[in-house]
Amino acid sequence: MQPVVLTRDQHGISRKQISENALKVLYRLHKSGFEAYLVGGGVRDLLLGRQPKDFDIATSATPDQVKQLFSNCRLVGRRFRLAHILFGRDVIEVATFRGHHHEVNTNKNLSDQSSEGMLLRDNVYGTIEEDAERRDFTVNALYYNIADFSVVGFANGLADLEARRLVLIGDPETRYREDPVRMIRAVRFAAKLGLTISPETEAPITTLAPLLRDIPPARLFEETLKLLLAGQGLATYRLLQHYDLFAPLFPEAAEVMGQGSDYYNQFIELALANTDQRLAEGLRVTPAFLYAALLWGPVETRTQQFMHEGGLNFYDASRLANDEVLSRQVKSVAIPRRFSTVVRDIWQLQDRLTKRSGKRPLRLLEHPKFRAGYDFLLLRAKLDPELEELAQWWTDFQEANPVERQPQSRRAPNPRARARDDDAPKSRRRPRRRPRKKKEA
Ligand code: ATP
Ligand code: MG
Repeated sequence: MQPVVLTRDQHGISRKQISENALKVLYRLHKSGFEAYLVGGGVRDLLLGRQPKDFDIATSATPDQVKQLFSNCRLVGRRFRLAHILFGRDVIEVATFRGHHHEVNTNKNLSDQSSEGMLLRDNVYGTIEEDAERRDFTVNALYYNIADFSVVGFANGLADLEARRLVLIGDPETRYREDPVRMIRAVRFAAKLGLTISPETEAPITTLAPLLRDIPPARLFEETLKLLLAGQGLATYRLLQHYDLFAPLFPEAAEVMGQGSDYYNQFIELALANTDQRLAEGLRVTPAFLYAALLWGPVETRTQQFMHEGGLNFYDASRLANDEVLSRQVKSVAIPRRFSTVVRDIWQLQDRLTKRSGKRPLRLLEHPKFRAGYDFLLLRAKLDPELEELAQWWTDFQEANPVERQPQSRRAPNPRARARDDDAPKSRRRPRRRPRKKKEA
């Protein structure tokens, strides 16, 4: 873990690229006698010449010491205790250097591990060297020192970044067992940053992929948003499939795809390409649309089964299928209710969009989720020539009957606020932060 230090004139990071709030926190910690570094993705992305999504800080100060320094500080997390410094909607996350477990693991309040080797609690503090060893990938073990503006890289991280290599720190199998989410983080960083996963780091993934079933569904929901709704959804999806990581996240969808036809795989790819395109144009995306697409295969399949084997009519069969598919899915990856109601709307609109007689079409235009349902139909029509005429009919019908709609927001979603639906309750409190190993189990 010998560090490599780049002095301020040996790297391209300037303080102008770092958010004012992050700098404020760094300076205050430093002036109070603590070590303070920008760490992880913020440093990595700046070195790659990319705009970081957010800035995280690592320090020698304990969470309680951080709290004493900042009145706008809130301590969060049990599994991984952290300080959040709040500046309106902007939150700077401050983590105390993590230490090793073995010397102290008799105290379960500080450190705990499951029988599978999964870390249940991680609140042992240490030095920056130890902190670096506890991070996931070498390119994330990079620190920007506010004391002298140098960049400190551990574990060959600077060289790996240069070579565009993604390497897990330590023994890969042990590290994936500690936190299986690292497997999907590997895929995410590879797709997002164009890094190649090193052979040692990729080798255990397919075998260990089923460990994702032990991760709480709520944490996986947040991870899935970062995987599929961050602009590189299609590339990430293909990597997930390549490493058998898709099935533990979406078991029913994977099962339907395993039944021979490539139709639903193509449909998901189309939906993701569409989502990536919208994000690139700065348009709003909702997780509900993507979930509707991911689970469309299971819904159609189950509907058919309920009709042909259960003797139900289409209406009852499809309602039952919707409920069943959603309730099974949330055992792997959660779907908050504000999204699942929209997922249902999108599915149910698929049938209602086939009814073109009388006043029904005009009334349907007023449906709050009409647009999402229509977009979904357009997507289906791209794969299914039989639907082309219907999709075109609705396109023409809308043109002939313009509806006064709320102007659609054109801004890209704020990554820190995370993807939200229009009608999600907007609490004044900031939504819970990005999930990660630091989150409560
Ligand atoms: P981005 O914010 O662009 O998604 P990031 O690398 O900053 O990428 P975060 O989830 O913000 O990712 O985490 C910040 C840092 O915390 C990481 O760079 C890494 O050093 C560390 N980290 C996060 N999750 C884990 C984990 N599961 N195991 C080990 N270290 C982690
Ligand atoms: Mg980050």
